[in-house]
Amino acid sequence: MQSNHAATTVGELRWYVKKAARRAVSGMSAIVRSLGAGRSSSSGCALRALTYHRFGDLRHDPFCVSAEAFEEQMAWLAESRSAVSLDRVQDHLSGTAGLDHDSVLVTIDDGYRSVHDTALPILKRHGIPAVLFVTVQGIGSDPSNQPDSGIVADERYLTWDELAGLEAAGVSVQSHAWTHSSLGRMSAAKVQEEAARSREILESRLGRAVTAFAYPFGTRADYTAATREVLDRCGYTLAFTSQHGAIRSGDDPLSLPRVKVEGGEGIRMFRSLAQGGLDGWAFVDRTLWRLQAAPHEADA
Ligand SMILES: [Zn+2]
Repeated sequence: MQSNHAATTVGELRWYVKKAARRAVSGMSAIVRSLGAGRSSSSGCALRALTYHRFGDLRHDPFCVSAEAFEEQMAWLAESRSAVSLDRVQDHLSGTAGLDHDSVLVTIDDGYRSVHDTALPILKRHGIPAVLFVTVQGIGSDPSNQPDSGIVADERYLTWDELAGLEAAGVSVQSHAWTHSSLGRMSAAKVQEEAARSREILESRLGRAVTAFAYPFGTRADYTAATREVLDRCGYTLAFTSQHGAIRSGDDPLSLPRVKVEGGEGIRMFRSLAQGGLDGWAFVDRTLWRLQAAPHEADA
């Protein structure tokens, strides 16, 4: 048991170091903004696609946001009128309609039960549009029965009935591939299967076009020019990675960055994330942090 204890201690240390680093980047950004610098580097309104995974009270799990924190975050988005739908994002990127001010798209990955049980009532209460990227093979199953799924969680996936309920409430269900595997390491034929099969099944069950995709894991190792070509050929018009950053008009719609919302952070950090205070984290994401990240940390 000693090794477990040591692992926990290292995990906790890493948790606190990362939280401190995120606060430092956010704080530096606030100082720069207060000095009036940085404005000149922005061109037009920015959009930030926020990434969530699960909802609940798992301590020290960055992939799990508590109901209380999510409630506070969605209330703030409603008050600031900054949340936009997937359709608005599509219009923004194709240049058919601009954004009035900095905006936020709420995205949720993987398709766990807590999206329905915990997040949905909060999204409905505040009228916030959202996108849910589901791993289609897992729908209705328990990931503990799929040791190769690449993700670790102790809750089951959503069922088709629950997905229908989410859709009816305004959550747009889109593809997070067929299995939860890195497309960056697959043959073109396998990528094609992941992209096309997930899309076809979602479309037949939901009765509408599915046009958006989120790369499993989404690090620089998980998408390539070749995967982009396959997604394009399969009919996807938007694809999201897990690379940190804001989306701007003119960006490649098939490799869009996002901003991860982590568990254990207060509303002040959330406002900073939504308003670009952590845009500088893209540097950390690209260069330093991946060297130390645990394998599942890159999940999206
Ligand atoms: Zn994922």
